[in-house]
Amino acid sequence: MTATCEVSIGLLLPDVLGTYSDAGNATVLAQRLRWRGIAVTVHTVTARDAPPLSCEIYLLGGGEDRAQQFATRWLRDKPKLLDALAERAVTLAVCAGMQVLGESMTDPDGREHPGVGLLDLTTSPRRTRAIGEAVVQCNLPEVGMLTGFENHRGATALGPGLAPLGEVVTGVGNGAEHAVEGVLTEHIIGTYLHGPVLARNPALADHILARVTGRPLPPIELPDLPAVRQSYLGGSGASRRPLRRARRAAGLRSSSPS
Ligand code: GLN
Repeated sequence: MTATCEVSIGLLLPDVLGTYSDAGNATVLAQRLRWRGIAVTVHTVTARDAPPLSCEIYLLGGGEDRAQQFATRWLRDKPKLLDALAERAVTLAVCAGMQVLGESMTDPDGREHPGVGLLDLTTSPRRTRAIGEAVVQCNLPEVGMLTGFENHRGATALGPGLAPLGEVVTGVGNGAEHAVEGVLTEHIIGTYLHGPVLARNPALADHILARVTGRPLPPIELPDLPAVRQSYLGGSGASRRPLRRARRAAGLRSSSPS
């Protein structure tokens, strides 16, 4: 990718694939750019909107089987958008979002539905739903361990040329063959992890941002999160000073008189 100083993010179909709050991934990416002084625009693209074709990042989230069949038809109607996902942008696709980018999805009644065919992967139903916390050793060394929660019936088998995002430490992950999770290509990162995954794993967010800005990004000084939590929880005598300090560190203006 060439170096860029302004990033645009296309949040695709949060009204359709929005069941698990994966739209929060856009918030995380945008805020981590702003904290570093990089301009960002988030385009929220609902089912009624024409998607912008020039975003550096596209995001797809998770949802129910019927919702993902709708999303597949919506995407298949937009070949130029599919070209951007396949050849130019970086896309993070979570759960149903990952499944729809594949070749096919078989529902629990045995009916096969086509995906958009950008990834050589197929999804078929497990006997039971995979629900719970998952830990994954990411195959991107700078990202390290990933955590998230998974909630899916589908098991996804990767074609021979596809690499997973990581190896499952606990949880189910793709749930087909051996214990791998997600998919990792030059342009698409797929995962079963919700959370939103980028809120729980800022190193993965920064990996995506480094790819699209074309440079490694400086670390962000984060507030003392336990102190922030404690000040929100309040309680008798709890000082609001840590919260004020944290908000100042994050470049936020105080909402109450100090
Ligand atoms: N409907 C899909 C499944 O159950 C995806 C679920 C999800 O996005 N969490 O496998």
